[in-house]
Amino acid sequence: MAKVPRWERAWQHFRAGMFDGYIYNPGDGTTASRRKRFNRQREEYWRLVQLARDLGIAVYKGGDLGTATDASGDLFHVGGLWDPGKERIRLGQRSFPVLAHEMGHAVSYILVGHQSRAEGELTACGAGYVLTCHIAGMKTPRHDLAYARRQGATRETLIETEGHILNVFHELRSALQQ
Ligand SMILES: [Zn+2]
Repeated sequence: MAKVPRWERAWQHFRAGMFDGYIYNPGDGTTASRRKRFNRQREEYWRLVQLARDLGIAVYKGGDLGTATDASGDLFHVGGLWDPGKERIRLGQRSFPVLAHEMGHAVSYILVGHQSRAEGELTACGAGYVLTCHIAGMKTPRHDLAYARRQGATRETLIETEGHILNVFHELRSALQQ
């Protein structure tokens, strides 16, 4: 049997979270494997910052980004922001998964322009999670599908957006391999 690529397993896992409510907790691994994942994410973080710059996107790390409200009016803490008007990403901390999420927004915008809030967040969550797993393994922090759902994403949104989400991931993946 052919080996299923890691990104595809990550995508199946993300998808199952929407369709089956399947919560997979791979555990955190040993201290050595945690450190290895952390180091890999840190190296790749700077490559992703460079990729953003190559696309004309400025990345700023600037303190606390405060809170915002989701589609149901609940407050959440903002980890990162993509501003398409200024072609700028702001991050609360240097984090590969957070930057991957924001780069998901940016590349999605480059490919198709504005999306609805639900589609945009599902795209960023899906593409960012799959990229993070592809780079640093499946034992990465859990995906933020719950956040996309709070922003209005449903199973129908996933069915409609699936091809696009994977396009965004593949754009990011091939750009990082150059
Ligand atoms: Zn987002």
